[in-house]
Amino acid sequence: MAVLTKVKNKVYNEHAVHISLKQVEKSFNDKVVLKDISLEIGTGEFVVIVGKSGSGKSTLLRLISGLEYPTYGNVLFDDTSIDQSAKSAKMMYQDSRLLPWKKVIDNVGLGLKGNWYPKAKEKLEQVGLLSHQNDWPSTLSGGQQQRVALARALVHNPSLLLLDEPMSALDAFTRLEMQNLIENLWIKQRFTALLVTHDVREAVKLGDRIILIEDGFITLDIKNPISRPRSLTNSQFSKIEKQV
Ligand code: ADP
Ligand code: MG
Repeated sequence: MAVLTKVKNKVYNEHAVHISLKQVEKSFNDKVVLKDISLEIGTGEFVVIVGKSGSGKSTLLRLISGLEYPTYGNVLFDDTSIDQSAKSAKMMYQDSRLLPWKKVIDNVGLGLKGNWYPKAKEKLEQVGLLSHQNDWPSTLSGGQQQRVALARALVHNPSLLLLDEPMSALDAFTRLEMQNLIENLWIKQRFTALLVTHDVREAVKLGDRIILIEDGFITLDIKNPISRPRSLTNSQFSKIEKQV
């Protein structure tokens, strides 16, 4: 169970990380994909990243996860370099990437040590799928598979959860269910969260903050510090909507 602390009326998980990018640039071969990215993400903050396909969103997540290294600049967690902290980052993708030859419960327990079964069961219960623990992943719906993937990520009590369009393949109703689940588990565990989405309503619903990336640059960074559900001004909304 996460240790939650209240500081200045904000609840956060002591294991959650503060992320700092300083003038980060990323190129592949000669192509500059991210440019002059300076970004501070607070401990336990829920940040949503929006932008057109190819604008650099996944690359930004991969830099933060430690799967890629910046060409210039630094990515820091709680002021230490990426190598130590990236270990406790978990990532979710558009597809669940469950291992098809392992049953649901064994997918959730993957990588856990010692007496892992009760922890995996508890997490499956939190995503509403305990009754499917002995099923094969292929027998579940897309939405159920994503819920298993969420359980598999959160069972490690990660300091950071990176969500690369995990809901974009789901139908509207299932997507809403998944949004609520992610929000509730974030409230409970308060990991630092970064979500990439093309759905502006989803961004507004979940984000403490919304960042727009256009062609490798951050062109908008809006904080929503007041309360959920979030709101944007009409001009901010339409600026984002044109891009996603
Ligand atoms: P988004 O997630 O916003 O759609 P990406 O971050 O995936 O965008 O990609 C941004 C740009 O970087 C694209 O032009 C893409 O082709 C390029 N790119 C991403 N990863 C690689 C890679 N490993 N090698 C070469 N080019 C890449
Ligand atoms: Mg992408």
